[in-house]
Parts: sequence; structure tokens; C-alpha cells
Amino acid sequence: MLRSVLAFSAVASLSLALASRLQQQSHSATSPQNSQPGAPTKTSELHALASLEPIDTHTHVAKGDASFYAMLDRLHMHILDILLVDDHDSYRRAMEPQLEDALRVVRESHGHAALCTSFDPFQFGQADFPASAIRGLDRDFAVGAVAVKIWKNIGMELKDRDGHYVLPDNPALGPIFKDIEKHNRMLIAHVAEPDEAWQAPNPNGLDYSYYKENPTWYMYRKLGAPNKHQLLEARDHLLAQNPKLRVVGAHLGSMEDDLDALAMHLDAYPNFAVDTAARVVHLVVQPSDKVRGFLLKYQDRILYGTDLEFLKDTAPQDAVKEWETQYAMDWRYFATKDVFEYSGHKVEGLGLPQAVLRKLYHANAVHWIPGIYSK
Ligand SMILES: [Zn+2]
Repeated sequence: MLRSVLAFSAVASLSLALASRLQQQSHSATSPQNSQPGAPTKTSELHALASLEPIDTHTHVAKGDASFYAMLDRLHMHILDILLVDDHDSYRRAMEPQLEDALRVVRESHGHAALCTSFDPFQFGQADFPASAIRGLDRDFAVGAVAVKIWKNIGMELKDRDGHYVLPDNPALGPIFKDIEKHNRMLIAHVAEPDEAWQAPNPNGLDYSYYKENPTWYMYRKLGAPNKHQLLEARDHLLAQNPKLRVVGAHLGSMEDDLDALAMHLDAYPNFAVDTAARVVHLVVQPSDKVRGFLLKYQDRILYGTDLEFLKDTAPQDAVKEWETQYAMDWRYFATKDVFEYSGHKVEGLGLPQAVLRKLYHANAVHWIPGIYSK
């Protein structure tokens, strides 16, 4: 994130204050990174991207703006606007205001944005949980929500009455997953974090600054907290118990640093796919051949996503610039064979075949998230 802060500050229109605000508010480690300071928006890359009718399956948009919608239009971009309850964030503490904002974005975007709703996990332990959560979801399905998100606070923060961490396969959550399946919606599961969250501080780590800024999610030596293996096991248990529920593991299923393990999971659980949100930088630091082979083999199971945000206090022109820069840079990595710098890492583009790009950017999202794409 520090690299990204520096990059932001070099882009004249983004102040350092804004960048650090983005850093604080980011809901994930390894947030999207800008390309080289001052790099011009790559119009040819965006043009090629637009031809695929791309879908960004992982965004957080709290407001709309004419210039923002115009960008979506220009790029033929469809987005999934994801809600989540975060008790550390005044805006995200409750569902209602976010839901109202997201529904406005869906309405105003003229088909470019679809809603991924959520429920308040901190109601866990209340007498009417999970019935109240299900009521909320059903209400949101009725107004068009196509997916439901569970966030890392399940597993890494939420505790039961006895002070034990609540894991994603907790039986109390079971009826919620059954309800999502019954309505043929998709579950986005952000479970666990990159390995670094459980390791001793490493200033060279990709997510070092994130955990420094967000100690809630830094699990190293945290008393009573589950380790990463236990979290992923609970997620696997959820997948096994709900074989007809389509589950997309956010952020490469938190197996961003171990594509062999991710491959084994995709083999074991046919109802599991993953998004690339905020983790392309974890791919660029791995051997290109290996990443390319993985993306080719699992070409039906990877959904393009960014984790880009358009927050209440972000100036629209800054958001548009940030989003276009990210889209152009990701495209350059996946689609071209350019040698270039991705967030400070020298990388050779993967040059994926057009048919695979079309799955990554469009067809897989349509398949895994029915209703996300309307034209
Ligand atoms: Zn996110």
C-alpha cells in the first residue's frame, strides 16, 4: 500500500491525504495499485478491454456521478457493487444507508451496476438470527440483488457468547447459505487473508503497510484466533456442505501465494470459483509461466475483479482516473506480452488468448452470477 500511496501522491489530482484515506478505508489487503506515477491512461488497452463487454465482479461503490457512469459506458464495463458490514467504519457499520446508496447506483447506472448485498454478522447471537438476516436478504433479492457477501470479520473478528471466534461454517449460518442457494444467488466469500497476516512483520511483504494500518486483521500471535489453515478448512466445509451453492472466493480464495493449493481446491469443489480482486499483484510476483498455465487450466473458474472503490468523499474525476488506470494496467498484464512495471514489480504480460480473456472478463461472471449482466 505504501507504494500505492506514493504513486497516488505523484498523480497531481490525488492528494496524499486522499490516498491515506483510501488506505485506511480499503477493505482488503493488497488493494488495487496505480501504475507508474504520471502514466497516461492507455486508451488502446481500454479500447480492447471494452470490446469484451467486461465485468468487474468486485467493486465497492457508495455513490454515483455522471462522469463515473460515463466511464462505465465508455468501457462497456459492468460492475458488481458489493456491500459489507464493517464495525470499524462509520459508513459500513449498518446495512441500510449502504443499501440505499447502492440501489441508487444500480438505478442510475442504467444496467451497468448490479447489487451484491450482505447481512450484519454482528447480529449473531441475537434470538432472531439468522431469521432476520434471511428476511433482509430476501428483501434485497426482491429488488434485484444477485449475490451475497460474507466478509473476513466472520472467522477473524466475530465471536460467540463464550468468546470463541465464529467461523464461516458455523451451524447458525447454515440456513442463510441454504436461502441464497434456494434463490439461485451466488455467495462471495472473503475468508482469511494473505499468509502475511499470520507471519512475523516483514517490511518487504506485499501487504506490510496494510496490516500496519489495519491491526484488526493482523493475526500474528493473536490469542485464541484461528490460524489460516483453520479458516480455509471452515470455508471448505461450507463448500462441501452446500454443493449446489455457487461460491466465489474473493481475492483468489486467499490462496494467492499458493496456486497449487488453489488448483487442488478448484478440483475438489466444483461449486467454487475465485475472483482476482486486489490480488493481481500477487500474481505478477510469481513466475509468469506458472501463472499463465494456471489461468489456462482453470479458465472457467476465475472471475475478473478489482476491489476498486468509489467512496463518499472521493472526487469523481479522481475515481475515474484511478479506475481507468487500474483497468488498463490489469489488461496490459493479462492480454499483452509487454514487459512493464506493475506496482513496482517488473513483469512480462501473460498474453492470454482472446477466448480465455473473454471468459475471465465476461463469460465466467455471467455463468457464476446469473443476473449480473443485462444489456
Ligand atoms: Zn472488497
